[in-house]
Amino acid sequence: MAASRTIIVAGAGIGGLTASLALARRGFRVILLEKAERLEEAGAGLQLSPNASRVLTELGLQPRLSAAAVTPEAICLMSATSGGEICRLPLDQTAQPGAPYWVIHRADLQAALRDEVQSCSDIDLRLGCQFEDVSSHAKGLTVIQRSGTTRCEELALALIGADGIWSAVRHHLLPDLQPRFSGLIAWRGTLDTTQLPREYTARRVQLWMGRGAHLVTYPISGGRRINVVAVVPGQWNRPGWSEPGDSNEIKTAFVAAGWHAIPRMLIGAVDGWRRWALFAVPGGAQWSEGAVTLLGDAAHAMLPFAAQGAAMAIEDAAVLAKCLAGRQDESAAALTAALQRYEKLRRPRVMRLQRTARQLGRIYHLSGPLALARDLVIKTMGGKRMLSRQDWIYSWQA
Ligand SMILES: Cc1cc2nc3c(=O)[nH]c(=O)nc-3n(C[C@H](O)[C@H](O)[C@H](O)COP(=O)(O)OP(=O)(O)OC[C@H]3O[C@@H](n4cnc5c(N)ncnc54)[C@H](O)[C@@H]3O)c2cc1C
Repeated sequence: MAASRTIIVAGAGIGGLTASLALARRGFRVILLEKAERLEEAGAGLQLSPNASRVLTELGLQPRLSAAAVTPEAICLMSATSGGEICRLPLDQTAQPGAPYWVIHRADLQAALRDEVQSCSDIDLRLGCQFEDVSSHAKGLTVIQRSGTTRCEELALALIGADGIWSAVRHHLLPDLQPRFSGLIAWRGTLDTTQLPREYTARRVQLWMGRGAHLVTYPISGGRRINVVAVVPGQWNRPGWSEPGDSNEIKTAFVAAGWHAIPRMLIGAVDGWRRWALFAVPGGAQWSEGAVTLLGDAAHAMLPFAAQGAAMAIEDAAVLAKCLAGRQDESAAALTAALQRYEKLRRPRVMRLQRTARQLGRIYHLSGPLALARDLVIKTMGGKRMLSRQDWIYSWQA
């Protein structure tokens, strides 16, 4: 591949796959490096709000995704103390063509993106191939990659680090920047819809708020399974997405916190739990240097409470491709300027979302009179007004 149009993307997660497609659609050739031997996602769900689904639709993914995704009719805010609904945000009233609200199994999203990437002749997906190092020179970049014991070099115009929260590309740019542990752990699992009464298998996202913890459930896999995420405080903080968790530990945590029988029934019905210690990457540092930049969790991993981490990686991909395609000329200076522009366009929004996610976590976990006040405010505002507070997130377009 010629260096002049070749961009190397490190990491074939949701961000790297989307960026590769967006770059290829804009006329670049892409080498996509993925250290895993196979592309497979841990078994859990993902909410894709209209700001993200709009980008995926524009990349032509709607036919592949709509078969697997579920379009929830509402987000229901639930009280973990009373077991009742506090408020219902009517998602079906905000639906726009080409920008649905989807809930989907991560494996289904990854498979759709992978299939689209593999059908694109301008993308060379290299599995079992990990980014190791990069150096810049007059002809562009030399990127060093490793496949087993073999190291090889590739010339490229630019390098995009889409290699997740423990990014090796970020370590190269910012060796002192470390993800910070939040003191919270996400427990994730799924259950078969046939195990539950009908009222808990409707096309709804349910967010249960309780003392020091919260629980999110929604249907995935065409509605055949329910995704369950329980967020609790804890000290266990090993990196990784898929550490098995002891179901008795999570059940006991929710009994001790005085949760109502209904959310406890949902937790009890999950067959296998996985734990995920929640880290975030501080958003203040620069992401771009010369012809190297970062995208998605590598740049700005956030707490998942606004359900926007993957959505931000998808948005990043669209903006990055647009900035690179729109650069003024083929010079190194124009390339650097394009990457700086990308960072400048993205930084305020992702930092605002990082703050929003932190704040939501605190609000979800309130207890006592503060929780009662929260529920009263939510009830008084009503679902439509609550939903309109998300406009700045959902109405975004590249
Ligand atoms: C509990 C929980 C729930 C969430 N729910 C939502 C939600 O509902 N909606 C939403 O939008 N977001 C959600 N998120 C956030 C979302 O999961 C992440 O923000 C998103 O997956 C980040 O994607 P990414 O492509 O940047 O990184 P990743 O998905 O981490 O992908 C990085 C890829 O890079 C590869 N890699 C790593 N190092 C190298 C290397 N040196 N060379 C080559 N490849 C490498 C990895 O193997 C991996 O495939 C949630 C997160 C959590 C923890």
